[in-house]
Amino acid sequence: MVTEVLRVNKDSYDILSKASLLLNKGELVAIPTETVYGLGANAYDKNACLNIFKAKGRPSDNPLIVHIAEPQDAEKIAFTNDLYYKLAQKFMPGPLTIILPKKEIIPNEVTAGLDSVAIRCPVHPVANALIKISGIPIAAPSANSSGKPSPTTAQHVYDDMNGKIPLILDGGECDVGVESTVIKITESEIVLLRPGAVTVEMLKEICPNVTIAGAVKEELQAGQVPLSPGMKYKHYAPQANLYLIDDRYIDFIEFTKEKQKTENCAIMCYNEEIELLENKNLLPVGNKDDIKKQTQRLFIILREADKLGVETIYAHLPNDEGESLAIYNRMIRACAHRVLGGINGEGK
Ligand code: AMP
Ligand code: MG
Repeated sequence: MVTEVLRVNKDSYDILSKASLLLNKGELVAIPTETVYGLGANAYDKNACLNIFKAKGRPSDNPLIVHIAEPQDAEKIAFTNDLYYKLAQKFMPGPLTIILPKKEIIPNEVTAGLDSVAIRCPVHPVANALIKISGIPIAAPSANSSGKPSPTTAQHVYDDMNGKIPLILDGGECDVGVESTVIKITESEIVLLRPGAVTVEMLKEICPNVTIAGAVKEELQAGQVPLSPGMKYKHYAPQANLYLIDDRYIDFIEFTKEKQKTENCAIMCYNEEIELLENKNLLPVGNKDDIKKQTQRLFIILREADKLGVETIYAHLPNDEGESLAIYNRMIRACAHRVLGGINGEGK
């Protein structure tokens, strides 16, 4: 199959119509969103959705997120409640996914047999316009091959999906850079299943009863049943061994400078640290206090790291609170929980 890549904005009516026709015919289309690129299919078409699993190599028991244009479109596919609308008023459209009991119209293949469905309303103008023009909800996981970092540029999607899907819509680099915040809700409580740009603190302003699922910060123990199937899958790990350095206990510059002399390694450093290190295999993540930039660049850098052919990568252990929890969650998985320094670490 030839994969076409078309540059697009919300006013590219011809291209969006073409994408809509493909989706309505049961084909897959890669779509830019504010979080990462999604691999979209008609959420009502079970065969189209099964093809998503095939193209990604995604385990069939890992459910898909269903994307809608307006919060009230959830009525067609799920049983909503007051808390859903309170959250929707504040965070939709935007990078928040809410899990609710599903209605029959959504095929079991989309939800991997679960009786709940994950719903998101993207704010990206291309994604939002395409859902409206198509007139259907769009099931879309991240548009990477399973096991690779999520794609945040059309090139990333092309690298993984060339020859497997007919169309990639190129909307430029994604703003947020990591996947949406995923929560499961009842009338009165929120459980965080995956951290993203909508933080725990932001959710607490709407409903104080927020708990963080254990697997967000810690390793899932053998035999433990995860609240979200995605939690049990091995996440992206670079080919090199990634170590996170707890810089409250280890001097990052002193430590990594020494490693640069003795190892074939790359360093994920803050911009302010570039000058202090040898200019060899440095992967600057952004300014120390610019968590937004660091989040946006995370998957770009992890894909770059694989191209360097190094044996080890050293990075700062991110803070596990606030905006930074999303980076912590992805990095702690990417490094297989190898942390140097501190009480949880292996020490120097
Ligand atoms: P991705 O599509 O790659 O962004 O991943 C979607 C995440 O949402 C995965 O971790 C899924 O396991 C999770 N998810 C989707 N639907 C549900 C659901 N009904 N219940 C729990 N987790 C879900
Ligand atoms: Mg994914």
